[in-house]
Amino acid sequence: MNSKKILCIDLDDTIALTSNTIIKFAVDFDKKVLKRNGELKNIDNCKDYYYFAKMLGWNKEQLTQFFDNCYLKYLKEIRVKPEASSALKKIKALGISIYIVTSRREKENGKVTKITKKWLKQNNIIYDKLFINAINKWNIIKQVKPSYFLDDSFENCLNVSKVSKNTEVILMTTTFNKKIQNEQFRQISNLNELYDIIVRNENE
Ligand SMILES: [Mg+2]
Repeated sequence: MNSKKILCIDLDDTIALTSNTIIKFAVDFDKKVLKRNGELKNIDNCKDYYYFAKMLGWNKEQLTQFFDNCYLKYLKEIRVKPEASSALKKIKALGISIYIVTSRREKENGKVTKITKKWLKQNNIIYDKLFINAINKWNIIKQVKPSYFLDDSFENCLNVSKVSKNTEVILMTTTFNKKIQNEQFRQISNLNELYDIIVRNENE
């Protein structure tokens, strides 16, 4: 028998509808704290997950200030993608282990971990392992060697594909990355499509 298959999956903008909340908080912060006009530029080729900072034209310092002020507040308000719970249950039922790998930063005595675990429970997201603070995701992927990796960050997909040749790397399409030139990764727009890919592969 094959050893157990693993899916490594990103959290923000992959399982969670993070952008809605983050943009709302960022515009508010831009106006109220940075005293700017909160105007959003359209971004559709973002390769990482700082689209909101690019949309507002923030520099690094302004981004850091935003995280320091708003991070714990907006994490609690993020909503889940409507299909996430059921799609992940179906994937789990195929015998696939689900590892959630997120670059959410843990700074304040476990608060981010606590908020994230509570959120996953409230939203009925099943998982086997949770990796927080996975800033360089490829370091984890190199060790885990999952069968599947899914992320909305093109850079993460690229780096993971370099270190784990047998992993099927899939890019989650978002409004913010839809115009990226991508010929190497399969792209999906919701988690039911991920289930379809996995079920097809596993039945081959
Ligand atoms: Mg993400």
